[in-house]
Amino acid sequence: MVKSASETVGLAADVLAKYEPVIGLEVHVQLLTNSKIFCACSTRFGDAPNSNVCPVCLGLPGTLPVLNKRVVEMATLASLALHCTVHEHSRFARKNYFYPDLPKGYQISQYELPLATGGWIEVEHDGAKKRIGITRLHLEEDAAKNLHEGFSQSATKAYIDYNRCGTPLCEIVSEPDMRAPEEAYAYLTTLRQILLYTGVSDCNMEEGSLRCDANVSVRPRGSSEFGTKVEVKNLNSFRFLQKALEYEIERHIGVLESGGRISQETRLWNQHANRTDSMRSKEKAHDYRYFPEPDLLPVHVSSAWREEIRRALPELPDAKRARFVSQYGITPYDAEVLTGSQALADYFEAVAKSGASAKNAANWIQTELLRRLNDSGKEIGASPVSPAALAELLKLVESGQITGAVGKKVFAAMFGSGRSAAEIVTAEGLAQISDTSAIEQAAREVIAKNPDNVAKYKSGNEGVFKFFVGQVMRATRGQANPQAVNDILRKLLS
Ligand SMILES: [Zn+2]
Repeated sequence: MVKSASETVGLAADVLAKYEPVIGLEVHVQLLTNSKIFCACSTRFGDAPNSNVCPVCLGLPGTLPVLNKRVVEMATLASLALHCTVHEHSRFARKNYFYPDLPKGYQISQYELPLATGGWIEVEHDGAKKRIGITRLHLEEDAAKNLHEGFSQSATKAYIDYNRCGTPLCEIVSEPDMRAPEEAYAYLTTLRQILLYTGVSDCNMEEGSLRCDANVSVRPRGSSEFGTKVEVKNLNSFRFLQKALEYEIERHIGVLESGGRISQETRLWNQHANRTDSMRSKEKAHDYRYFPEPDLLPVHVSSAWREEIRRALPELPDAKRARFVSQYGITPYDAEVLTGSQALADYFEAVAKSGASAKNAANWIQTELLRRLNDSGKEIGASPVSPAALAELLKLVESGQITGAVGKKVFAAMFGSGRSAAEIVTAEGLAQISDTSAIEQAAREVIAKNPDNVAKYKSGNEGVFKFFVGQVMRATRGQANPQAVNDILRKLLS
């Protein structure tokens, strides 16, 4: 039964506060291999429908799957980054169900013996750190994609693109450790960041390489038993995840408060109506008639191989943040922003290592660079200003050859043209004016033009002094040495 949104709105805050939400997430991550998990077909996104298929991924009779070693390697790397125990032996199983996007009639997944179990990640929410457990990480193949729009007979027919069939996925199942939608949001953000650092996936939610389902229930605060949980699917953005959880938690509380019972079911987030709709009663594991996949050998990850993969683990975001604070003396907030992606962190380090002050590097990257990248829709990797070029500019500012105000103008010109700071400063005559006679002349002109303000200043209005400084800086196009401007104005106005 589809419940209407009106049933769930308007619960008083004290009613909501009586209950504690319990949330767990199941995240499907597409691994960035070139070929599929059990055949050599390409995994490229965006190719013509049904162009990357073969008898294996189409499930034709008589074919046998062959496991892609790179898939195991990447999933092991992800498992280690999530502090999981990688098992020496794991096994594929058949998950049986019929659906047009699954030509074999079963999905090859892992069930009783997953690749890895028992991990955790630390998330930060409301300034507090919390460890969220990871139950398991297992491997499976993706199904095809049903397309309901955009084709000549879409009104009456569904179209199926089998390119995605057999794409390698790892499913990461969390413990039901989250207690608020914001915590779930923080978990997914942190998980995505770690996976991006390891390079095992591009985690692109729009292209479906990161998909999230949520299990949610509520219980009276103080209770240690879990309430009946509902699975919510179709959460293809961070915003939808949070909104769907908020909606679902309030719906549960509304049902319980009115004396009803929650039915265990799968629901879909309806982004147009801003609500979840019932999809089907929740299937249980036995509905899938799991059994070990007879066409594949058990997966063997020797301790030697596992340790070899561990050596390929990059420095992860947490460790990098701590190191940036201690090594470069920047604030934890700056470290947080600058480790947002591996590429941004590398950029910052490259600037700091080229001799500019790390604090200045942190400031300029966060203000000037990120703002302009954002405005122009560019990624850090496509920055027109290289780390070396930014370092050169910062050194001109730090050594007093140009003022900070001019530095910002030069940066804008560098960003727009790709030219170097020195070139721009020379070509446009922007070097700092430390010649006191030139500054003094500009100051005298400003004073002569503003007798009223001179009078105010002389009668004790100290605030007017800033006006004079601003006018002189303007007259010198921001190039005058600020200290010299101050000194000269004080002298002339006294
Ligand atoms: Zn294939």
